[in-house]
Amino acid sequence: MPIDLPWIPSTAVFLCSAFLAFGYVATATATGPVKGDYFHTGAGTRYLERAKGDIVTVPLRDNINVLMGSGANIVVLSGSEGKFLVDAGIKPSEEKLQAALNKIGPSPLKYVVNTHWHWDHTDGNEWMHAAGATIVAQRNTLKHLSQTTHVDDWNWTFAPVPAGARPTIIVENERDFAFAGDSIKVEHFGPGHTDGDVLVYFEKADVMALGDTFWNGNYPFIDNEDGGSVNSAIAWANKAIERSTDKTILVPGHGPVGNRAQLIEFRDMLVTVRDKVVALKSQGKSLDDVIAARPTAAFDDKWGRFVIDSKFFTKLVYEGL
Ligand SMILES: [Zn+2]
Repeated sequence: MPIDLPWIPSTAVFLCSAFLAFGYVATATATGPVKGDYFHTGAGTRYLERAKGDIVTVPLRDNINVLMGSGANIVVLSGSEGKFLVDAGIKPSEEKLQAALNKIGPSPLKYVVNTHWHWDHTDGNEWMHAAGATIVAQRNTLKHLSQTTHVDDWNWTFAPVPAGARPTIIVENERDFAFAGDSIKVEHFGPGHTDGDVLVYFEKADVMALGDTFWNGNYPFIDNEDGGSVNSAIAWANKAIERSTDKTILVPGHGPVGNRAQLIEFRDMLVTVRDKVVALKSQGKSLDDVIAARPTAAFDDKWGRFVIDSKFFTKLVYEGL
């Protein structure tokens, strides 16, 4: 489904504009079936379109809010000593995000945790760092942001980000912060949606930010090339289910703010689809045959309406097994 982009007249100009505007390197080739390219027909296009609208601020608990509308969801803990953010959104939203942050309170940015390296979570790093934030991430996230990374499933190559956009506080497995009256745990449980995911838990508020290890009500992207897989995604969902209660507020990377029951539903969907694809793949069926068998059929109405449709999700599951 090609989407018209009013800000670019043609693909050729688009690639050039994207390079100039964002500093990304485009590639024209990819192997196997892909969902167009990330910034022309893929998820990046959706995020750029959405960023033209308003930022929506959703108050959670205590002094924690979620900002929606700039790439992935952004969690903001605000106190007199500053603001602690989970994920940075995308650069085109800078002015709108700044206004939304000022509305929450006047204190400056202090920390931004990247839940993983993907563009829709890290593209705001540079301006947020310039505004005073220290960027925090898992070591593998720093690695991906520091080198050229091609993602076949997005048909796109990302250039290394500028020095100011790179994480300087590096999490191996766990790092704790005391901030604005809360205790915050940043934890890495091994590969999940990528090889560098972290979960951020605000203990006092009982709010858990899951990045893209949870898509509330939508099929997730899984970055098979960079350490993710459907099995790791299931393992992460299980970990977060273990760590949360019915009272915990769960913030997904994409989709509305959720709860533990919705995370369990997400996990169960992943398990059911994984099991079906495993059965078909073990019969020697090709990717095309597996897609034709529609292993996601029971879920498509509910889960297949966002950036990852049923075919693309089936491909991601198949490739990761
Ligand atoms: Zn992601």
